[in-house]
Amino acid sequence: MTGSGAGFDLHTHSSFSDGTELPGRVVGLAAAAGLAGLALTDHDTTKGWADATTAACAQGIALIPGMELSSRHQSATVHILAFLFDPHDSDLVDETDRIQRSRHERARRIVDRIAVDYSLEWADVLAQTTDEATIGRPHIADALVARGHTPDRNSAFRGILDPRWGYGEPHYAPSPLRAVELVRAAGGVPVLAHPAAPRSGPLDDEYVHKLVDGGLFGFELEHRENTARGKARLVRWANMYDLVLTGASDYHGSGKPNKLGENVTDPAVVNRIVAEASGSRPVNWPGTC
Ligand code: AMP
Ligand code: FE
Ligand code: FE
Ligand code: ZN
Repeated sequence: MTGSGAGFDLHTHSSFSDGTELPGRVVGLAAAAGLAGLALTDHDTTKGWADATTAACAQGIALIPGMELSSRHQSATVHILAFLFDPHDSDLVDETDRIQRSRHERARRIVDRIAVDYSLEWADVLAQTTDEATIGRPHIADALVARGHTPDRNSAFRGILDPRWGYGEPHYAPSPLRAVELVRAAGGVPVLAHPAAPRSGPLDDEYVHKLVDGGLFGFELEHRENTARGKARLVRWANMYDLVLTGASDYHGSGKPNKLGENVTDPAVVNRIVAEASGSRPVNWPGTC
């Protein structure tokens, strides 16, 4: 489903990762936009769940607690939306802790390299993040903007943060298969995020087959970065394996132009995800507030 309406926006970020708004505000904006529900899917953290839960009950909107888990296939970053897993599962917590530590060290090294050529300090990056946030390149982008080196996040990514400029490096991330298996073992439901976006790397039949065997439950079909040709392949695979197709905005507040509810997921698909999950329950689902 494309367009706003009584659907669910299953991919949003708050200031607990690289979004600019607190979780409660993301939830409030989703309610004001008339959405039936949303998933909060900060990168590699569940720290926003508590604030989002309080807001969902207060605002009368359903919340699917989630996360966008980082993984890597060959040299490409593969993001996996994880819904309704147990946030205390020790294997998943250990893995996200490891990713967090690596993200932190990597961000410091990127800043050290940039600082050779531009005025930039680690404190500039910290000034763009909250204490508990998952650190990412968007925070470095915001620090570069604050220093006046580039006009906005997007221009930072197309310039100084573009890998071809040589300042970057990847952070640790598990393979997509391990990520899918970890989410499943924690009672969650894994869905590939923006799998047909040019930056998401190669997807082939064999690889998708492996992920489905490992427990992959669906694809994020309606996402502004997915290409038309790539989407046709996702539909074909979803039919072949009886997987769900979701739609979402990938809202980042003022960090990206993406608008809450610009793509949504059909309620019947959300029901399938909820029925599949055993790690945690949706919030403000009948009787859960
Ligand atoms: P990282 O996880 O640290 O490698 O940073 C990747 C994140 O940067 C993604 O999750 C996006 O939210 C964000 N991002 C990537 N490209 C852009 C862009 N052109 N403009 C704004 N944000 C971007
Ligand atoms: Fe992001
Ligand atoms: Fe992503
Ligand atoms: Zn995202």
